[in-house]
Amino acid sequence: MAERELRPAVFLDRDGVLNVDHGYVASRDQFQWIEGAIAAVKAVNDAGFLVFIATNQSGIARGLYSVDDMHRLHDSMTKELARFGARIDDIRYCPFHPDGTIAAYARKSDWRKPAPGMILDLIARWPVDREKSVLIGDKDADLAAARAAGIRGLKFEGGNLETFVRREVLGEKGAGAR
Ligand SMILES: [Mg+2]
Repeated sequence: MAERELRPAVFLDRDGVLNVDHGYVASRDQFQWIEGAIAAVKAVNDAGFLVFIATNQSGIARGLYSVDDMHRLHDSMTKELARFGARIDDIRYCPFHPDGTIAAYARKSDWRKPAPGMILDLIARWPVDREKSVLIGDKDADLAAARAAGIRGLKFEGGNLETFVRREVLGEKGAGAR
């Protein structure tokens, strides 16, 4: 059997990185892409990176929306990305929260960032080269999860995600807004 060739990966937080964080975004009409988000995903696809989403979704535990609602939104996101030739290879979400009102999801979870469970699960299932991989998040909890998983973490504080990715992940000098 051939050895799996390890690939660099980009782990993306969702809310505040791919889409504007309006708080518990659960449907397409509440969903607004961050500027440059689709182009950013395509840029890292084209550069040979695996691309993952790892997203805390405590709104499920809080009863604000269902797992099905979230899957519908993710399907709509991936379809829209595909229209631009961009691809998310896999998605992990954490529906749990200790303060949840939905009994099935009202608990602590080592998948919830700042814990690294989602990232570690993706690394277990995909041929990820940790040293060349990076996580992009907008919160300290994202960066803590990256650190705990042995992945470099980058804080995205707004602006154009494609510009950010080209500069910080792909190392393109003088990558400007387009
Ligand atoms: Mg976020």
